[in-house]
Amino acid sequence: MNHPSPPQRVAVIGGGPAGLMAAETLAAGGVQVDVYDAMPSVGRKFLLAGKGGMNITHSEPLPNFRVRYRARETDVSRWLDGFDPQAVRDWIHGLGIETFVGTSGRVFPLEMKAAPLLRAWLHRLRESGVRFHQRHRWLGWQDGRLRIDTPEGEILVDAEATVLALGGASWARLGSDGAWVPLLQAHGVEVAPLVPSNCGFDVDWSAHLVEKHAGAPLTTVAIRWRDHDDVLQRRQGQFVITASGVEGSLVYAISAPLRDRIAQEGSAPIWLDLLPDLDAHRVLEEVTRPRGSRSLSSHLQGRLGIKGVKAALLHECLSKDDYNDPEELARALKALPVILKRPRPIDEAISSAGGVRFESLEHGSMLRTVPGVFVAGEMVDWEAPTGGYLLTACFGSGRAAGRDALAWLEKTTPRT
Ligand SMILES: Cc1cc2nc3c(=O)[nH]c(=O)nc-3n(C[C@H](O)[C@H](O)[C@H](O)COP(=O)(O)OP(=O)(O)OC[C@H]3O[C@@H](n4cnc5c(N)ncnc54)[C@H](O)[C@@H]3O)c2cc1C
Repeated sequence: MNHPSPPQRVAVIGGGPAGLMAAETLAAGGVQVDVYDAMPSVGRKFLLAGKGGMNITHSEPLPNFRVRYRARETDVSRWLDGFDPQAVRDWIHGLGIETFVGTSGRVFPLEMKAAPLLRAWLHRLRESGVRFHQRHRWLGWQDGRLRIDTPEGEILVDAEATVLALGGASWARLGSDGAWVPLLQAHGVEVAPLVPSNCGFDVDWSAHLVEKHAGAPLTTVAIRWRDHDDVLQRRQGQFVITASGVEGSLVYAISAPLRDRIAQEGSAPIWLDLLPDLDAHRVLEEVTRPRGSRSLSSHLQGRLGIKGVKAALLHECLSKDDYNDPEELARALKALPVILKRPRPIDEAISSAGGVRFESLEHGSMLRTVPGVFVAGEMVDWEAPTGGYLLTACFGSGRAAGRDALAWLEKTTPRT
């Protein structure tokens, strides 16, 4: 009589959205899944992402969605083909969480929070037999076994396949600290340096501007910048002047080319359009309109609504002569140059770029130099703007890594 063989054991290291999705896929494939996470609980960054209104995916047409991954569009498309934005929404609905599409096309859980979703998901994973091991930090391999540091000391774990979903290197206190980079490099895995993505930037503001206006939001503003192809782009949105520079959704959205320009040239200029709803001609008309005995600043406030932080920025970034030259002043109101000096530290960024290079992978997501080990999520070398693109790719890559691991197990150790 044939006895059924015991289920194969797969270790998933990292319990963020990518690792949990890999675990779900693997469990559905009939293998025993053990999730190890260094932190006392899983999904900490996922929960944080839910604090400011969790943006889980985007409703735009798939071709538009794909291009958000820029140079990595083809690689990420493989993940999206297996789990596209609509599939993400259907999956969330399957957990009993409703979603809605915001005015910007972004998709949110109805309650805007991650906690109910994570709770339902973890419950379903446990029900399907996934075992969780918190405070278990992966340290590398010894004789082909996983070295795991636990509160009781180091253990060695046997797994027939492993999915690493260790995250990037932002917000290290939530678990993803990038400490895996040298561990994989030691095994011949090529890793692009982890750098901030969706980040703020340092500007050398004067002490006066910082004292009076740090924390001030710019709600009606546009930025011009040069993209990766050196083409001038313009985008309207909102951002905040901080003590160290600039941050906020508009800045994050354009941060990749700015970061790369700083790396190449030492700094990156942007040009602020302080009056995005008025054309240059109209602005010049208003600036040059006779103002009688009114001061220039009250003229600007009266005719164009320039006051507060916008007025301060003009003084900050324009020479006295230019401020008093109507043509220069009108030009600056539409294109005030600000020099970005450095991206803010990676730990503050929403996400990180860089990671395991796709060239280091085979069979989809398996490490070429460490057979049987698959990677998923933000630790892989892709980046995307905020807008749900990060989580959607993390889910898709987790699912792909799970499927790739199942296919590999089937090929290398077929079940009897
Ligand atoms: C403030 C903020 C807001 C965000 N908002 C959004 C949003 O609205 N929409 C969106 O799409 N994205 C958002 N993101 C990004 C999104 O949260 C991340 O891209 C996503 O969590 C990455 O998933 P991951 O599974 O790859 O990694 P992570 O979520 O970082 O998970 C990695 C896990 O691996 C564990 N780990 C690391 N090293 C080890 C080790 N050696 N041993 C064991 N375990 C280890 C960590 O403890 C962690 O639990 C936001 C991020 C931040 C910081």
